Amino acid sequence: MSEGISQPDQPEDLGGGDTDLFSKFDDVIELRKGLLASGQEDPFNLVMEKVLSPTRAICNGRDTILLGTYNYMGMTFDPDVIEAGEQALRDYGTGTTGSRVLNGTYQGHKECEEALKEFYGMDHAMVFSTGYLANLGIISTIAGKGDYIILDIDSHASIWDGCAMGNAEVVPFKHNDVEALEKRLKRVPEGAGKLVILEGVYSMLGDVAPLREMVAVAKKHGAMVLVDEAHSMGFIGENGRGVCEAAGVIDDCDFIIGTFSKSVGTVGGFCVSNHPKFEIMRLVCRPYVFTASLPPSVVATAATSIRKLMHGSNKRAHLWENSRNLHLGLQELGFQLGTDAPESAIIAVIMPDLEKGAAMWEALLKEGLYVNLARPPATPANMTLLRCSLCAEHSEEEVTTILGMFERAGKTVGII
Ligand code: PMP
Repeated sequence: MSEGISQPDQPEDLGGGDTDLFSKFDDVIELRKGLLASGQEDPFNLVMEKVLSPTRAICNGRDTILLGTYNYMGMTFDPDVIEAGEQALRDYGTGTTGSRVLNGTYQGHKECEEALKEFYGMDHAMVFSTGYLANLGIISTIAGKGDYIILDIDSHASIWDGCAMGNAEVVPFKHNDVEALEKRLKRVPEGAGKLVILEGVYSMLGDVAPLREMVAVAKKHGAMVLVDEAHSMGFIGENGRGVCEAAGVIDDCDFIIGTFSKSVGTVGGFCVSNHPKFEIMRLVCRPYVFTASLPPSVVATAATSIRKLMHGSNKRAHLWENSRNLHLGLQELGFQLGTDAPESAIIAVIMPDLEKGAAMWEALLKEGLYVNLARPPATPANMTLLRCSLCAEHSEEEVTTILGMFERAGKTVGII
């Protein structure tokens, strides 16, 4: 057992000098036990017993406003999207039972890729079974031994895992720091392959990357650029293409990665690219080849949702309004927020510590509001956060109700 990891109350005797491979998790087990000992509801085990709409569900028996889903554009109950899924279920059955390169490519997968190409105005689109697999697959396949990946230190776990799987040299730089990125790029040996990985919106604090400057620096140093737009697709940019569109750098991005699990409102992942050799990825990318493809109903809902998002400017405008109102209201109540101004649909409320954060999370749930409790290692700088993610279907009145809930809970817990 390594130092610093607390022992469980009664370590199990496995006999024969065997090591319990679970002992490495003892500190997490203890932390969780401590948190729940006071009778606190488990923030990481919430069950939605019934989902009433994109913004409401019955959670632990209570009618609850959802402010902690990634359903930014509220597409999960869109009648056209549901109809497309039902039709595909009837026409094609429940699942493909196989890989995209064998028996797992149906008409619906191709239509979904066509919708993505149109949405982004790009030549190629490849659909993966999740966004996690899209990052894992693309990054590990294009950047291998001897290549260099220069990435923001606050990158999502799927990006880090893709880097590890590909065996490239991994060089992190300080979050959103253009100078730090350039410094790292200058140190890459002459002639080595270089991939810069950025995100449009960083999901913990809801802050946006300075993509115009960063992409320019990456290109100046001859690097390829991959941008994960998981939390910006559908919402940011005139046509909802993401921060790349808003920053005017879409044509300089070699790869855009995204997910269907957020604004699109279902599950799945993708990569779009203009690279002339991109299609070879379908044969060499292991997380694409060696897993089952998405069920036909899922790609049908995704394709319909993506096409509708192209015309979602009214929803985008309302979501921005919600984001501004919530950010301003929380600031006025005296909460400390992750960004000075609203930059996305995510507003992070910084908690003094895990205990206060968990108490606040529970107080809000009792008020009838669900938010995400986020803690290290998912959060930067060891922060405990209550992450609020807004939906285009939240009404103005609901945002006012949410602020009232925050005020009462904040006073009860002693945060404001
Ligand atoms: N990238 C980022 C930035 C994410 O936040 C997430 C999911 N939270 C993913 C990728 C993975 O997406 P998926 O849920 O489709 O696996």
